[in-house]
Formats: sequence, structure tokens, C-alpha cells
Amino acid sequence: MAVDKQQKTAQEAKDSPMIDSIGSTEKTTKARTKRATPAKSRANAALGTAAGLYGIEPYQPAKNEEYMSDGQLAHFRKILEAWRAELMEEVDRTVNHMQDESAALPDINDRATQEEEFAIELRTRDRERKLIRKIEQSLQAIDNVDYGYCETCGIEIGLRRLEARPTATQCIDCKTLSEIKEKQNNG
Ligand SMILES: [Zn+2]
Repeated sequence: MAVDKQQKTAQEAKDSPMIDSIGSTEKTTKARTKRATPAKSRANAALGTAAGLYGIEPYQPAKNEEYMSDGQLAHFRKILEAWRAELMEEVDRTVNHMQDESAALPDINDRATQEEEFAIELRTRDRERKLIRKIEQSLQAIDNVDYGYCETCGIEIGLRRLEARPTATQCIDCKTLSEIKEKQNNG
């Protein structure tokens, strides 16, 4: 059971803005270290930024405060907007960086290295764009006041889970189930 939960957390951590102490299992750390090239670690900063870094403290609901009150919705809107702004800046920076560096490189080895670097940056940018799209869907859900509920079973996703993963659209049980199904389908 404990192992099960850890794996769950490690998978979640991949596209979570907040890597908390529970999230940084050995598996996650290893994967991150392996991929850490200078160009990528810089870009990954935005992909893995903790909400706390935006100076937004976790929401403290008042006693008897209803779930997804106006205050809570405003809180998650703030986190999502700060996160999106940072990712958009990162995308711009990547584009500018690639334009600056695509000046003629006479050495064929330099060019090969550069092409590899660009391929990594393009993949990172693709991840950032997907994440921006997810963030925008969450913002849309806040506008429609159906943010914070599992799209599969309808229960409350929960403040704690949303703080760690503000773009979550499923409760942890449904999410785990769909990940298992996905794995089975992919062989
Ligand atoms: Zn659910």
C-alpha cells in the first residue's frame, strides 16, 4: 500500500507544479537527473515550479467554509495565472534563444550539437504549450464554477491535491485508475 502510494505520487509529480517532499521519490529524482542538461534544466524550472514560489501561500479555509468558495476559486485562479505567465515567458525565451543561436556555425560538430540542443528545446516547448493549454482549461473551469470536482465521478478533488496539482481534473482514485488503464492499453 505504501509503495503503491509512492508510485502514484511519483507519476503525478511529473506534471505537477509542486514537487513536495512526498513527491520527490527516488524514481522521480533519478529521471530528473538523467535528463538534466543545461538548456533543459533552465526550461524545466517553469515546468516544475512550486506554487509557493509565486509567493502564494496554501489556502487556509475558514471554519465551515464551503468547498470552492469564491475565495478558493480566486486563490487557484491566482496560482494558475502566475504559472501560465511564467510558462509563456519561458516559451518566448526559448524562441529567442533559438533565433540568437541559429547564426551560421561553420563547424559540423558544433552544428550537430546545436541541432540536438534545439530538438530538446523544441520538446520542452511542446510540453510547456500543452501545460499552458491545461492551465487555460482549468481557468475556464473556474469561470464556469465547476473547478475542483472530479470530471469522472463528480466528487471533490480536494484542496490539498489541487494545491499540489492545480490543473487536476480527476480525484486521485479516478486518476490512478485511468493511469492503470492507459498502461494496460499501451502494453
Ligand atoms: Zn473521481
